[in-house]
Amino acid sequence: MECKETVVQVLSWAQLLGGPACCWALLGAGRRTEYGRYADPRDRCVANTRLVWMVQEIPALLVPLVLLLSTETRSGAGRSLLLGTFCLHYFYRSLIYPWRTRGRPFPLHIAVKSFIFCSLNGMLQSHYLLHCAAAAAAQHSAAQLAVGLSLFSAGLIINIHSDTLLGNLRRPGELVYKIPRGGMFELVSGANYFGEILEWCGYAVATWSLPAAAFCFFTACNLGPRAIQHHRFYQQQFKDYPPSRKALIPFIL
Ligand code: NDP
Repeated sequence: MECKETVVQVLSWAQLLGGPACCWALLGAGRRTEYGRYADPRDRCVANTRLVWMVQEIPALLVPLVLLLSTETRSGAGRSLLLGTFCLHYFYRSLIYPWRTRGRPFPLHIAVKSFIFCSLNGMLQSHYLLHCAAAAAAQHSAAQLAVGLSLFSAGLIINIHSDTLLGNLRRPGELVYKIPRGGMFELVSGANYFGEILEWCGYAVATWSLPAAAFCFFTACNLGPRAIQHHRFYQQQFKDYPPSRKALIPFIL
């Protein structure tokens, strides 16, 4: 398939421009992404959180796999990067994470938006890596690839470890909030988000592409405000909340 340069530019710029808009919308007084602890208790359009996580995230795994299987070029750096980073993350997020989470019912209006985002972003990242990246890949240095993949791997480990610590905080059937302890939670309240943002920073360095940089930027704009809101929530809920703990970036923010 030919590289659809216009589609790549439009979808990338949508994320680059949408990021600050999303950040501004979430940081406004009293505004939240309304799922989990910030879900509206009167909202009746909700579904089982495990099912929702699986369904809303799976397009980001299936779309790249379908493109990968249907593309003529089945070798090369773009294919390996797609499988070893993006698909690996979404394999975890859509097929493993849902079985380990114990969250409250998930609002369907958020799930629909996430489903659309995962479908479009899955298409953007996989189309770019499979059909546009061949020439660019030749300019990558081995050091750049090594740094990018190291950051991605560290982020993935932190993200999975932090998700696991959160998943273990509750007994089956419980919906209370406790102070997360251990791992990166000793440094930041949003350890899972820190790990996720680090992953996509590494992915952007490794692929050195506009779509990856745009996705990384959008993720930071989306998860940064949520980490700050969680941090404030803990400080208000728990008088003994560790004072040295930051919201998102260790020792800084
Ligand atoms: P949260 O930290 O809000 O919640 C994760 C799970 O842990 C939920 O089941 C939540 O329950 C539970 N939980 C959280 N804090 C506590 C606590 N203090 N005590 C007990 N249970 C707790 O994460 P998200 O749901 O926002 O995100 C989940 C994963 O998805 C993260 O790894 C994140 O990085 C990723 N993600 C990625 C996005 C992206 O743009 N790439 C967007 C959103 C998420 P409850 O639901 O009841 O609050």
